[in-house]
Amino acid sequence: MIQVRSRHELRKTLASWRTAGQSLALVPTMGNLHQGHLRLVQEARAAADRVLVSIFVNPLQFGIGEDFERYPRTLEADSVLLAQAGVDLIFAPDEAELYPHGREGLIQLQVPGLGDDLCGRSRPGHFNGVATVVAKLFNLSQPDLAFFGCKDYQQLLVIRRLVADLNFPVQIRGVDIVREADGLALSSRNQYLSSSERRQAPLLYQTLQGLALALAQGGQAAELLPQAIRALESQGFRPDYLELRRAADLDPVQDGDLAMNEPLILLVAAWLGSTRLLDNLMLPLNITS
Ligand code: AMP
Repeated sequence: MIQVRSRHELRKTLASWRTAGQSLALVPTMGNLHQGHLRLVQEARAAADRVLVSIFVNPLQFGIGEDFERYPRTLEADSVLLAQAGVDLIFAPDEAELYPHGREGLIQLQVPGLGDDLCGRSRPGHFNGVATVVAKLFNLSQPDLAFFGCKDYQQLLVIRRLVADLNFPVQIRGVDIVREADGLALSSRNQYLSSSERRQAPLLYQTLQGLALALAQGGQAAELLPQAIRALESQGFRPDYLELRRAADLDPVQDGDLAMNEPLILLVAAWLGSTRLLDNLMLPLNITS
């Protein structure tokens, strides 16, 4: 496995593979890798000749007062995991390498609409930062395929929109959420949880499962969602949002969507202490209500 820090070294390595006619899969990450990231790598491995993993804690996607400074940076341990997973190349640039002219005056992408909704409501500018860094990674590495987790479902749709709107010649693949045995979605931020918060955390996924069941049995989202928010609050969560949306575009559910078997998704973001947890659950089709 090769590890590079500069754009120049990245381009050189990729050029030799391209000349040899090998396909490339990119897995963008912020490091501090866990089994969720490794599932992306595994799928990338199966789909392309070469796998490139980028590791970069992107300051553009963190708001003021968010956890940019304390976000765990564990490059050495990450490299060991990625070597074991059969990754060919790690690109781990520092900030000056990716933003050589600084962040002031940087030309950035905007994600209107989708980027201002759900997570974008409480994290203004977050998806602009994500779209900007991912566009740079696409331009630098020109992958055939890129892999993103469904855990960050809104992000996955933002990336699909980015690729469609700006005509990036890359195929985007979404990868299912990897969970702990108790249902908690794996996340680098789970390590911020205290031991009592960690015991509470699986309730988020249980809430989504309970809602999915109640909806399948004919319950009304307009009643069930506020009840579930109150239940989470009573268990010490501070829900940011809990919503039922159309899976294709995250638009609000319209009259007739259920009858048309439009795929729907439950999405939640909630604070537990100082940790913001995210989760979602795709609903089975054929909900009867
Ligand atoms: P991050 O390092 O948090 O930016 O995540 C890098 C990629 O891994 C993103 O595409 C995430 O959606 C994905 N990812 C993070 N956690 C999980 C998980 N539990 N299951 C599947 N994919 C995940």
